[in-house]
Amino acid sequence: MDFALDDVTEAVRETARRFADEKLMPQYQAREAAGRFDRDVLREMGALGLVAPDLPEEFGGVGASGMTQGVVIEEIGRGDLNMGYVNLLGSLVGGVIARFAEPQLASDVLPKIAGGELLPALGLTEPRGGTDAANLQLRARRDGGDWVLDGEKASISCAAQADGVLVAARTGSPDSCARGVTAFWVDLNTKGITRSSYNDLGSLSVGRGSIWFDGVRVPDRQRVGDEGMGFIRVMQGFDYSRALIALKCLGSARASLDETWAYTTEREAFGSPIAAYQGVTFPLAEADAQVRAARLLAYECLWLRDQGRPHTKEAAMVKWMGPKVAVDAIHQCLLTHGHLGYSRDLPHQQRMRDVMGLEIGDGTAQVSKLIVARETVGRAAVQYAKPKS
Ligand SMILES: Cc1cc2nc3c(=O)[nH]c(=O)nc-3n(C[C@H](O)[C@H](O)[C@H](O)COP(=O)(O)OP(=O)(O)OC[C@H]3O[C@@H](n4cnc5c(N)ncnc54)[C@H](O)[C@@H]3O)c2cc1C
Repeated sequence: MDFALDDVTEAVRETARRFADEKLMPQYQAREAAGRFDRDVLREMGALGLVAPDLPEEFGGVGASGMTQGVVIEEIGRGDLNMGYVNLLGSLVGGVIARFAEPQLASDVLPKIAGGELLPALGLTEPRGGTDAANLQLRARRDGGDWVLDGEKASISCAAQADGVLVAARTGSPDSCARGVTAFWVDLNTKGITRSSYNDLGSLSVGRGSIWFDGVRVPDRQRVGDEGMGFIRVMQGFDYSRALIALKCLGSARASLDETWAYTTEREAFGSPIAAYQGVTFPLAEADAQVRAARLLAYECLWLRDQGRPHTKEAAMVKWMGPKVAVDAIHQCLLTHGHLGYSRDLPHQQRMRDVMGLEIGDGTAQVSKLIVARETVGRAAVQYAKPKS
C-alpha cells in the first residue's frame, strides 16, 4: 500500500491548491452574494485543466484517473465548495456523454465543458421525488427525426446559469421504470425552456432550481446512449460522483479545521491560548481524525474505480459519511470561534450551509445506507412497494 501521490498527480494538486488559495478562497463569500459563478474564473479553471481532467484527450481532457480528479476537487472544495460543482458536473455529465453520445455530439460539447466555457447540468430529479429516481415522468416522444420533451425537472444544480442539461426522460410506457428512460443533451437556450431559482439555505452561487420543458424539440443526434438506457447510464456515473462529492465536502471541512487550529493558538482566555484547554482541542482532534478517515475511504473508492473493480458500496458509504463528517467538523470549528463564528464575516457558517446541501443532493443518508445494505446482503435489504390491488 502506498499513500504517496505520483509526481504528476502531486503537480496537479499543487496547481489546484494554488488556484484555490489565490482565486477561489478570497472570493468564496463574494460569489455567494453575486448568486452565480464568475465565468472568467471558470474559464481560467478550464485553461489550467482543473475542470474535468478525467475526460478523454480527444474530447479536451487529459484522460486523468478518477484519483486525480479527486485530488483536484478536494482542493477546489477547500477554496470554494460551490466551484466544485463545476468539477462534479463536468465529470458526471461529461463522462456519460464521452461514453455513450454520438462522437460528433461529444466533440461539440466536451472540449467546451473541459475548457470551462460550457456549464452543464444534470436533470434527473422531478417534483414528485428524487430518491425513487427511476419513477420519473418528464416525457419524450418521437416526432420525425426529433424528440419532443414535456415536463419539469426539479432541484437541478446550476439550473439558472447552466448552458446545457443532460436530461433523463421517459420514452417507454408510464410503468416502464428504469428501462423506459432515455437521456438527451439539451441546449438550455432551446425554445420552450423556462427556468427558476430556489431560495436556498446555501450554495447560492450554484443556484438550484427547476427547468420546465414545454414542447422542446431535440434532434435524435442529441440522444445520449440507446433508447431505454438513459437512467442506467446516468446512474452508473453516480458511484464516481459520490466519492467526488465527499472529497469536495471534506476539502471544505479541511479549510475550516486549518483555520481553526491556527485560531486556537492566537485566541487567549484566562491568560493562555485556548489551545491549552483540552475542551477546545479534543473536539477538533476528533473532527480532524474523522475527516481524515472519510477522505481515505473516498480515495479507496476512486482507486477501486480506476482499477475497474466494484466500488458501489464504498461510494454509498462515503456519500453518507463524507458530507456528514464535514458538516459536524465545520460546526465544531464555528463553535470554537465563539461569538465570531456566529457572524457572517467568517466563512464557517457558509461552509456549513453549503456542505449540508450535499447531505441530500445525489442521494440522502437513507438511500446511501440502503445501497450499503443491498450490496452486503443482497435483495433481502430492498423493500418493494406493495402491488396495487
Ligand atoms: C444541493 C442539492 C443539489 C442537487 N442537485 C441535483 C441535480 O443537479 N440534479 C438532480 O437531478 N437532482 C439534484 N438534487 C436532488 C437530489 O438528488 C434529491 O433531492 C435527492 O435524491 C432526494 O430526493 P427528494 O429531495 O425528492 O426526497 P424524497 O425522495 O422525497 O425523500 C424524502 C425523505 O424520505 C427519505 N426516503 C425516501 N425513500 C426512502 C426509503 N426507501 N427508505 C428510507 N428513507 C427514504 C429520504 O432519504 C428523504 O429523507 C439536488 C439536491 C440538493 C439538495
